[in-house]
Amino acid sequence: MNIILFGPPGAGKGTQAQYIVKKYDYFQLSTGDLLRDEIKNKSELGKKISKIIGKGKFVTDEIANSLLIKIITSPQYKKKIIFDGYPRNINQAINLEKLLKNNNQEIGSIIFLNVSREIVEKRISGRIICEKCNTTLNELTNKEDLEKHLCGQIYLKKRPDDNTQTIIKRYDAYIEQTKPVLDHYSSNSNFYEIDGSLKIDEITRKIEDILGV
Ligand code: AMP
Repeated sequence: MNIILFGPPGAGKGTQAQYIVKKYDYFQLSTGDLLRDEIKNKSELGKKISKIIGKGKFVTDEIANSLLIKIITSPQYKKKIIFDGYPRNINQAINLEKLLKNNNQEIGSIIFLNVSREIVEKRISGRIICEKCNTTLNELTNKEDLEKHLCGQIYLKKRPDDNTQTIIKRYDAYIEQTKPVLDHYSSNSNFYEIDGSLKIDEITRKIEDILGV
């Protein structure tokens, strides 16, 4: 079944998605990662995206929506997609429902990782991403894993938008625009809320319970 992982930046969506991908052969559709790939390409569009992300704002729905079609129409990923960072507003939620329906798919579970702004700030300001394997690490909360990471220290990078000022803007943008999407889904029988301040493996276990695996 397809899964939507919801939550503010720093809720642990990426970490949980990576785990499910490895263990259950899912595809993580992270619109943030796809946008960062576009920035790395140094295209005109990439430059535009870089400015928007740097300000902690959302890219336009046109740009965000265009990132989905290739994956949703791929037979390889059918009913095995984890949406991470999409939909972020009501317009995107409607677009997603339409796209899935047109491709004989649906949203299986909607999982909301709920965390406070204080925790988000702490997690994001220490966040380090491995550019090689895309693992999320943390120099403040888990230095040990960071130091023994196998890909090598040269691949460990901070995201440019992971600074305190941008984090606060991203959290506020989430509350303002993404909260209505949550309200839209929260009365569905396939909507689940998990306390995102729990330990990583505790959250994983709860997700596995929801997925019935
Ligand atoms: P993330 O990696 O999910 O934290 O996303 C990083 C940034 O990419 C966000 O702060 C937004 O600027 C942009 N972004 C990611 N996904 C979307 C989306 N679905 N709609 C609009 N902007 C997005």
